[in-house]
Amino acid sequence: MPGSEFDGRTARVAEGLKERALDGLLVTGLANLRYLSGFTGDNGILLVLPGEAVLFTDPRYEIQAAQEAACRLKIAKGALTVEVAGTLARLGLKHVGYEPGRTTCEVYESLKSRLPARASLEAAGGWIEELRMVKSADEIERIRRSVQTNSHAFEQAVARVRPGMKELDLAAEVEYRMRRLGAEKPAFETIVAAGARSALPHAQPTSARLQAGDLVVVDMGAFQEGYASDMTRILFLGSPGNKVKRMYRAVLEAQLAATAAVRAGVAVASVDAVARNVLKGYGLDRVFVHSTGHGLGLEIHEAPRIGRTGKGRLKAGMAITIEPGAYLEGFGGIRIEDTVVVTATGCEILTPTGKELRVI
Ligand code: ZN
Ligand code: ZN
Repeated sequence: MPGSEFDGRTARVAEGLKERALDGLLVTGLANLRYLSGFTGDNGILLVLPGEAVLFTDPRYEIQAAQEAACRLKIAKGALTVEVAGTLARLGLKHVGYEPGRTTCEVYESLKSRLPARASLEAAGGWIEELRMVKSADEIERIRRSVQTNSHAFEQAVARVRPGMKELDLAAEVEYRMRRLGAEKPAFETIVAAGARSALPHAQPTSARLQAGDLVVVDMGAFQEGYASDMTRILFLGSPGNKVKRMYRAVLEAQLAATAAVRAGVAVASVDAVARNVLKGYGLDRVFVHSTGHGLGLEIHEAPRIGRTGKGRLKAGMAITIEPGAYLEGFGGIRIEDTVVVTATGCEILTPTGKELRVI
């Protein structure tokens, strides 16, 4: 990531302080902190001030933080909050923004109890998340590479699928392959769910064995160069009957229609409605139990949420998933998911994997 990109991001936040009547912002969400500073460690607080940004971390990260972050560093010997509160008091800051959804009660209480009486912590939630929604060209290229690795790993893993293989073995194969292909780690716990368990949208793999006649949901994602990918495909062992074929056709039609509806300026809720309407035509809207998609980037689930009650409109440069599904208890589930980037005229589908039912 070009260093100036981080400077530009902190500068944008610094400019926003004034209109929010804040003297500084404490960034505690690790993905937000990484977005603004480049620091990838798991203990840090970033203080954004009008003229500069200061990263607080502990001695374990002294070398790493100096390499990764361009901003000023403070290495705390003890609790970060003690060091941060000391700095806030020394600078005489009165109105300090914090991230309520990303700050533990413990950190909040620790900071609050150490601040001078005239200083206050003020909620400034969702600010950095909003900036993160629209990706830079560099971020889109990272997501593209992550998506390519993920799809490549899928093909390698699927080539090894045989009846009798455990769900856990296929999940392990998926995660091994993605790492061998350049990913740092899975973006979430790989979902492999066979047979009736495929009707659980967020199933965890078990030692159950894949059998002839099983629908198998594989939902997988990688983190590569810090950025997430996310894809779901369906395998079928044996030859699918009419019920599976019809359900697959319905979900695929919903996925294609929702993808076709993606364009800058379109309300996120209307993209969700497109998918839901197609499934309604098949009598499957009531078993589509989740949102149509979500943003992704430094985290696997980011704003915007492409759901019925999702707010706002799509903007060019957002990276989102489109993933309608249908889940029949006792029978099985089908979900088809791609990662796409919103453009002025539509979207670019990053996922190269074909969307046909994989019959094995
Ligand atoms: Zn997924
Ligand atoms: Zn997803």
